[in-house]
Amino acid sequence: MRIQSLQDLKDRFAPSDRLPVVFLGHGSPMNVIEDTEYGRAWSELGRNLPRPKAILVVSAHWMTRGTTLVDISAMPRTIHDFYGFPEALYDQAYPAEGAPELAREVVTLLASHRAEEDDTWGLDHGAWAVLKFLYPDADIPVFQVSIDMARGLSHQLEIGRSLSELRDRGVLILGSGNIVHNLRAMQRGRAPRDFATEFDTIFADRLADRDFGALSNTERLGSLLHLAHPTVDHYLPALTIAGASDAGDELTFMTESIDLGSVSMRSFVFHRA
Ligand code: ZN
Repeated sequence: MRIQSLQDLKDRFAPSDRLPVVFLGHGSPMNVIEDTEYGRAWSELGRNLPRPKAILVVSAHWMTRGTTLVDISAMPRTIHDFYGFPEALYDQAYPAEGAPELAREVVTLLASHRAEEDDTWGLDHGAWAVLKFLYPDADIPVFQVSIDMARGLSHQLEIGRSLSELRDRGVLILGSGNIVHNLRAMQRGRAPRDFATEFDTIFADRLADRDFGALSNTERLGSLLHLAHPTVDHYLPALTIAGASDAGDELTFMTESIDLGSVSMRSFVFHRA
C-alpha cells in the first residue's frame, strides 16, 4: 500500500514485540536546517513508531572494505562529513549515547561476515541528519554498522537477515541512503530524469512483491543501476532493510519524490500491521 499523507502514518504501527525496520532517503544535508516535507515526515514517523531501546544505523556514509565494522563507542561523536555547506550545519550535534554492550553482541552476530569492533567512527550525517528529526532529544542509545563495499548487493540482504532477530529485542534497525543517487546528473529545480523515475518505480514494485533477488541482481538491473547509482553506497542500506524484513511485515512507503532530478527521497517501513 502506498501512503503519502502524514495523517495516514498515525496509528499505522500495531503494538508488537517485533519492531519495524526503517529506510530513510536522506538527500542533502540542507534538509537538517531547512523546513522540508521530508523533515516533517521523519518527525511524524518518530512520534508514531514504537519507542526503541536502541537504534542500529546502516548509513551510506560509512563504507569499509573487506570487513563490517561495528561502532562500540560509549559516546559516538557527531561527524560533519560534508564540504562547502553553511556554518549552521557544522554547529549541529547529536549527543546520544552509544550501546557498547549491544554493539559487541552484533559483532558476534555478524561473525561470519567478518565483523570487527571499531571505536573511531561515531555518527556520520547519514545517521544524525535523520535521527535529529526522528528522536530530537537524542535520548535513545545509537550505534552504526559499516557497509563492506568489497561484497556484492546480495551480501547486504544477508546482513539484514542476520540482524533481523534484534527486532525482537527492542532494537530499531535504520537504513539511511537514497533509492536513486546520481550526483553528476543532479540539477537544482530540475524535473525528475527518466532513469530516476524508472529505477525508483522498479525498486518500489519489486520491494512490494518481496522480490529482493531482483533488487540485488546487478545483471537484471543492468545499465539502469549504473545510471541510478554510479556508485552503490546509497543503495545498499535499502537492501539491508529489505533483508531485515519478514513475511509477517506490511510495507508502508513515505516521502515518494525525486529531488534535483536524480535523487530519490523515497522512504519505507516494514512493520507489523
Ligand atoms: Zn548521503
